[in-house]
Amino acid sequence: MQTHTDKKRIYLASPHMSGNEQKYIEQAFHTNWIAPLGPNVDAFETELTAYVGASEGVALSSGTAAIHLALSLLGVKKGDTVFCSTFTFVASANPILYQGADPVFIDSEPDTWNMSPQALEKALKVAKLKRKLPKAVIVVNLYGQSAKMDEILNLCNEYCVPVIEDAAESLGSTYKGKASGTFGKFGIYSFNGNKIITTSGGGMLISNEKEAIKKARFLSTQARDEAVHYQHSEMGYNYRMSNILAGVGRGQLEVLQQRVFEKRDIFDFYEEELSEVPGISFMPELEETFSNRWLSVMTIDEKITGLSVNGLVIALAEKNIEARPVWKPLHLQPLFKDVAYFPHEKGHSVSEKLFKTGICLPSGTNMTKKEQLHVINTIKSALIINDPSFSPASEIR
Ligand SMILES: *Cc1c(COP(=O)(O)O)cnc(C)c1O
Repeated sequence: MQTHTDKKRIYLASPHMSGNEQKYIEQAFHTNWIAPLGPNVDAFETELTAYVGASEGVALSSGTAAIHLALSLLGVKKGDTVFCSTFTFVASANPILYQGADPVFIDSEPDTWNMSPQALEKALKVAKLKRKLPKAVIVVNLYGQSAKMDEILNLCNEYCVPVIEDAAESLGSTYKGKASGTFGKFGIYSFNGNKIITTSGGGMLISNEKEAIKKARFLSTQARDEAVHYQHSEMGYNYRMSNILAGVGRGQLEVLQQRVFEKRDIFDFYEEELSEVPGISFMPELEETFSNRWLSVMTIDEKITGLSVNGLVIALAEKNIEARPVWKPLHLQPLFKDVAYFPHEKGHSVSEKLFKTGICLPSGTNMTKKEQLHVINTIKSALIINDPSFSPASEIR
């Protein structure tokens, strides 16, 4: 029998099927809907928008494609500026480059680790003085935690700048009782393999504006005019989700709520076992928000624990456990080296500090309790704590 300890690798986040995906795929085969359109696509759009409480959605080949179409619908073009959270995955900002526009990166704040309203306000003020307001603000809800949407929306409304909510990591989370992703003019979700639910690859663009989503659907299928022959007056994309993959999405959506609770249990177990360790703290959850805890993230203080983030990643890898540093802020990426950046406070960059101390722990919902405990004990024994009352190993009670 294989034991959990050394043979089986523990991953950061791996796909976790419900078992019903096959049923929807079979329906597609049975009716020969093996196309980038079809009943599963329509149903997946209806079911997901109903779940989050949005009126319209278009299923796409990726979350990145959804951001790209949102920018395109907002008329973002060469020479425009778009503000974006700096503390995120590169996919949030790449579409700004696709449109030939210039990104401006906004720092995080400590309560949510997401976009700092204070830094955003500064950036908007400067943009107004230069008479060049951004065409859009892309707000990211990292690791499932919603950003301070009220503050951010108030500012964006004041300056009349539309918001795109990158909820790729926060499907199933809420802010003041309302689904993450439904706050901006546009919201986007991702169903990439590592996300809370997956279609192996896919995304969705949602909005309450029917005409905008209709246009997105048109653009995502090569912008084909209504004519018997193939006629095109606009540049389009091949961004539609296939009917097979939408079938996977429907099976996954059935267990989304369950996955959220499982993810939260994993986070709670880590927090319970590790938050007492000197030098370790966990990602906060803002009051009146409910995080899907897509990934369990903690920070370690090297001065107290004697171990850096990279040191801990290596110590875990030696036990066949996958862990990763948090996203490297985009303003620190070589790709964006000359891009403007607004820190939370002058001389105080929250995202840079988080990058130095943050680590993502294995958070797959198919992990056993025993595997989670193996992760916890590996962390405890890797740290060099000068405290005789601190005992490393824990057992399942
Ligand atoms: C995964 C992710 C995306 C992109 O989604 P894809 O479906 O992989 O294109 C965008 N933003 C964030 C924050 C993500 O984590």
